[in-house]
Amino acid sequence: MTMLPFSIKKLFFYAYKKGLMKMFGCVFCQVAAHESPAEIVYEDEHCVVFKDINPKAPVHLLAVPRRHISSLNEDLEADEKLLGHLLTVAGRVAKQHGIDGTGYRTVINTNAEAGQTVFHLHLHILGGRILRWPPG
Ligand code: 5GP
Ligand code: ZN
Repeated sequence: MTMLPFSIKKLFFYAYKKGLMKMFGCVFCQVAAHESPAEIVYEDEHCVVFKDINPKAPVHLLAVPRRHISSLNEDLEADEKLLGHLLTVAGRVAKQHGIDGTGYRTVINTNAEAGQTVFHLHLHILGGRILRWPPG
């Protein structure tokens, strides 16, 4: 695999992800549709915010669009309002969880080297402890 040109590796990785999605469906689409259990803390017609199953901070929430968007690598020009909405919702839920004063971090991981493991766009909202910078 290491001998393959990057574009072919990318193609295999893409096919692999698509295959897994086809077999099991998208877990965040399922959460948004209430088909998979999650501790939902906020929802509206555009997005859902729920607790991360494996929290990396005392407060660790995930804000996801209801509609399936795999990552920021998609053409999202028509979705600028939705992306802005995710940020304003993040601010609102951070306040509700009492982390606005001390501080919190919002993170979107895109693709493998950034650590994206779920290929449905999600905004991490992390707080309740000191968060070091730069991240690992
Ligand atoms: P990524 O690594 O893609 O940026 O973040 C994916 C996040 O989703 C991880 O922090 C992981 O713990 C969380 N996660 C993965 N599967 C589930 C799930 O089924 N339910 C919930 N609530 N969180 C999940
Ligand atoms: Zn999805």
